[in-house]
Amino acid sequence: MNGLMMNVPLSVTSIMEHAERVNGTTEIVSYTRDNPRHRYNYRDAFRRTRQLANSIADWGLAQGDRIATLAWNDYRHFETYYAAACSGYVCHTINPRLFPEQVTYIINHAEDQYVFFDLDFLPLVEGVAAACPGVKGWIVLTTEEHMPETSLANVLCYETLLAAGDTSFEWPQLDENAACALCYTSGTTGNPKGVLYSHRSTMLHAYATMMPDAMGLSSRDVVLPIVPMFHVNAWGTPYSCPMAGAKLVFPGSKMGDGATLAALINEEGVTMSAGVPTVWLGLLAYLKTSGQRVESLQRIIVGGAACPLSIMEDFDKYGVETRVGWGMTEMSPLGSVNSSPSNRDKYSDEEFAKLRLKAGRPIFGVEMKIVSDSGEEQPWDGVAFGSLKVRGPWICSSYFKLDGSDAHAEEGWFETGDVATIDPDGFMAITDRTKDVIKSGGEWISSIEVENVATDHPKVAEAAVIGHFHPKWSERPLLIVVRNTDGQDLTAEEMLAWFDGKIAKWWTPEAVEFVDELPHTATGKLQKVTLREMFKDYSFPG
Ligand code: AMP
Repeated sequence: MNGLMMNVPLSVTSIMEHAERVNGTTEIVSYTRDNPRHRYNYRDAFRRTRQLANSIADWGLAQGDRIATLAWNDYRHFETYYAAACSGYVCHTINPRLFPEQVTYIINHAEDQYVFFDLDFLPLVEGVAAACPGVKGWIVLTTEEHMPETSLANVLCYETLLAAGDTSFEWPQLDENAACALCYTSGTTGNPKGVLYSHRSTMLHAYATMMPDAMGLSSRDVVLPIVPMFHVNAWGTPYSCPMAGAKLVFPGSKMGDGATLAALINEEGVTMSAGVPTVWLGLLAYLKTSGQRVESLQRIIVGGAACPLSIMEDFDKYGVETRVGWGMTEMSPLGSVNSSPSNRDKYSDEEFAKLRLKAGRPIFGVEMKIVSDSGEEQPWDGVAFGSLKVRGPWICSSYFKLDGSDAHAEEGWFETGDVATIDPDGFMAITDRTKDVIKSGGEWISSIEVENVATDHPKVAEAAVIGHFHPKWSERPLLIVVRNTDGQDLTAEEMLAWFDGKIAKWWTPEAVEFVDELPHTATGKLQKVTLREMFKDYSFPG
């Protein structure tokens, strides 16, 4: 017997309609190139979204067609998200930090019909346009007054396009399983793969991220998403904030600028923010030199890469709670969050410091398991390592236009490509990417744990550990370090001595090499493939 409840489709349109009615006067503040403090509210935003939807309705697109963006976090990008998705099209966010060849590949693979782009990306767009013959128009996210001189054909001005549209629009009824957004993973090898989110998955993910032990969002929050809207939908904040009625503060192109971030936090009363470890280093460095504080900021979510303890301890001093989050493009992205457990007293300070570094507990809706090389499920004892597999309603079931993949080899589970431990309390810790695992004498060494210890050294700016050939142990860890400005005199001996008593003796790197910088991917992750290539002819001393 079925329940007697209404079967209302879960759609992004309903988030927009709810926010406009219930939280209409809540503000959205943006840094943009033509206005460093643009300010309006949800009501204005969704009125303009209807105008945009009216204008693009004349383009004759079919349901499911892709509209792409190459844009910073700001209100125009936000409007484009909703106008595209709620019209029944797919908003395809492209990472402008990718190589032009990758951007070309992505636009063509996605069969993007129109591309909305920020003025800053004009050179990129001019460079790729000729190789993207399927694109019917390029829309510059600016006003007529700021329109650039360009050789591009079929260029439109966003504000002119929008102004031509009527403010009333009948949104179509959409199937909850219809696609609403598309984002390509920026893998370190092979072509990027498309992850196609549905209205239903986006809505459920937004609900889940609002939970108290996740981002804990409410209408009293002021949220600064520093994580880009071109990378997994800014971790869902453009959906969860209007759902919760939280004020949004968009940093535009200033994501890496500590001074602008501090000003936005202090002047707009930001309570919650989210971003990758690198952006926090920039903000912390600015706070230290300027002597400023961030009184309103209550908590931050740090994800996308392992978070060094030093970042958490520095934020402790400012009274800001740091929560590590883990996830993937394929997971919308949120899978786990590390919020303080109810049994905090059980842990000594040293144990608690170790616990904080973990990726946290799965949020409700995400199931996890760890399996050995032979496919055997591993215990949740905090010690056993295994390949991490996940399943849930906001985890991708296959890639866009790609039949079958190794990641989906086991029916119903997604292979994350991460190696992890899970402890009896459900705290998961990422120890490596599968392909970065170091096996010394047949035993696994966690490169992330070794890197965490290394980056805690006061003279270290960044560190990476790779497995390197060793005649006796088959592989041993090689530590590659970037010294910070105060640490130019750091020696290999001093660095290695730092590990004494902090990790198992045999995990201590075999040797240390110093470099000026480490290679990163377009989303700021260490590019270990390139590092291994750089050190392929290296031999351990002695
Ligand atoms: P992306 O799809 O670009 O968001 O990358 C997802 C990958 O980033 C994951 O599979 C992890 O390898 C890594 N990652 C994300 N969050 C964390 C974290 N908190 N700790 C360690 N690695 C992380």
